[in-house]
Amino acid sequence: MPMSSNNSELPGLEGDARDDLVAEAGDVAAGLTILVAEDHEFQRSMMVAMLEDLGARSVHEAEDGAAALEITRELEQPFDIIVTDIDMPGMDGMAFIRRLGEAKVAASLIVSSSLDRALLDSIETMSAAYGIRLLGTIEKPASPERFAELIATHWQMRANPEKQRAPASPFALDEVLAGIANDEFVPFYQPKIELRTGRVRGVEALARWRHPRRGVVLPYAFIQLLEQHDQIGELTWSMLAQAAAQCRRWREAGFDLDVSVNLSVAQLGDPAIADAVTWQVVQQGLDPRHMVLEITESVAMSNVGAVLENLARLRMKGFGLSIDDYGTGYSSMQQLTRVPFTELKIDQSFVAHATRQQASRLVLESSLDMSRKLNITSVAEGAETQEDWNLLRDCGCDLAQGFFIARPMEAEAVPEWIRQWE
Ligand code: C2E
Ligand code: MG
Ligand code: MG
Repeated sequence: MPMSSNNSELPGLEGDARDDLVAEAGDVAAGLTILVAEDHEFQRSMMVAMLEDLGARSVHEAEDGAAALEITRELEQPFDIIVTDIDMPGMDGMAFIRRLGEAKVAASLIVSSSLDRALLDSIETMSAAYGIRLLGTIEKPASPERFAELIATHWQMRANPEKQRAPASPFALDEVLAGIANDEFVPFYQPKIELRTGRVRGVEALARWRHPRRGVVLPYAFIQLLEQHDQIGELTWSMLAQAAAQCRRWREAGFDLDVSVNLSVAQLGDPAIADAVTWQVVQQGLDPRHMVLEITESVAMSNVGAVLENLARLRMKGFGLSIDDYGTGYSSMQQLTRVPFTELKIDQSFVAHATRQQASRLVLESSLDMSRKLNITSVAEGAETQEDWNLLRDCGCDLAQGFFIARPMEAEAVPEWIRQWE
């Protein structure tokens, strides 16, 4: 297996090579170069042994941050993953993470620690602020299962770099804003189906730009652009209002549907947003109980206090809260326990590979397990085949959404689609 420091050449990116590599969770670390920074010698050798058992290509060790930093400088081959303890003599884990950030080290990070949750939470926020991609934390004593899970996330992030770096938009900001002002943006709706019964439970509203010359334009071309310029607001208001009004009409026509709308996490930093969202929806005659707000987990939570206040208030008003693209973000676990989510949406990358890859399947199953424990609805996105559907149903997933069921469609097409489906 050729190895290279270049991410785009790492095995595990696409297709067969990746399938082979992670065909078994036992080999999930195949090809990876890993560094373990840990002062406790026994713990350190345990972790090194586990990582080697998981198939790591080479595992280096250091007894504190300074030694670890030294190794990252000396080694020609950059590390894929760095595992670090926090509480170490000499340079501790926090200083080490800061130095990694300053040196723009591209490795993914795993924090292993016996420190309490709150402290780990803040270390996570700190890592993000230093630009370090944190796969998650591992509580001591480390287990191979937890390592396998975090390493699966590493592959996933590598496989989906667009989740972190958006392609440049083919449009100028002004064009997009003019299109929004001109009411050219409409929601398309994609059905969410209850796996146990096959019933249509709701639809997700996905923004589409009916461009006067280019036809229907997809979100990649405008969402990030708007977010980067702090201009996502107008689109959100428009989507909320249109989706709420549409859902009310469907309900009046006898379809028992809920509607999901995507919210930008950046907007949640504004303490006034919960009331504005509520007003927008109620204004259209829809009870917030019939709307789910989907939020993608993200590091860009600058104003955590305000975000939590908004989410709690929205929940209080009756909105469902969904954590979108679960598994690709930075701190799946911690976020879930802090926020009153009602739904967990498992990212399509795990769903798409779950039938063939043990590693993705592991992420899928642990996500389902967690949503059961938290007593929230699990939704799998990106169900593309009958096989996906069967697996999801057998694993006890609540709802599924994906091309196998239907592609996003215009509002007008929804009632007829439901009649045919049911
Ligand atoms: P998302 O919220 O995770 O939405 C699911 C995306 O997966 C949609 O892409 C949908 O078309 C696509 N999808 C659904 N089923 C399948 C499948 O079986 N296979 C595959 N390969 N893809 C599937 P879309 O519509 O291009 O939206 C992309 C993202 O843009 C959304 O991801 C969401 O994060 C964002 N977005 C869309 N509308 C809005 C909006 O009104 N506001 C905000 N803030 N973000 C939006
Ligand atoms: Mg969504
Ligand atoms: Mg998603």
